[in-house]
Amino acid sequence: MWGVAKRLLKPLAGFIAQRLERSGNAGEVHRTEGSADIPVREPSGEECFQDDDQCYLDWIDRNPRGYVLNIHRTLNLSDARLHRASCRTIRGTPTRGTRWTSEYIKVCAHRTGLLDAWAESKAGGRAMRCRVCDP
Ligand SMILES: [Zn+2]
Repeated sequence: MWGVAKRLLKPLAGFIAQRLERSGNAGEVHRTEGSADIPVREPSGEECFQDDDQCYLDWIDRNPRGYVLNIHRTLNLSDARLHRASCRTIRGTPTRGTRWTSEYIKVCAHRTGLLDAWAESKAGGRAMRCRVCDP
């Protein structure tokens, strides 16, 4: 009985191993294709948007995994917030006024560290994290 089971299990195990190997390869190929399609932007440095809603909205659309520092144009840290680019509070229709980048400006980057460094050098401290998107 055990001999039969062994004979049946062996090719089955081989088949499963093959499937796993194939799906693993497929995943790698998919990732490579995906990253080739997305235009790679300079990962170092941040971009600051002031009076330029269209460029800001383009940036968060192109970089859904990026981060956005929302800060008053006087660089007042008291109500500045750090968001994920995907946060609903910084996209779509502005909650305050009609513009995204007039009274409050947007500083965008791929890492929160860049925005913390920007805020420290320009405003003398770090911005609080948004509670909605928890960056
Ligand atoms: Zn947020």
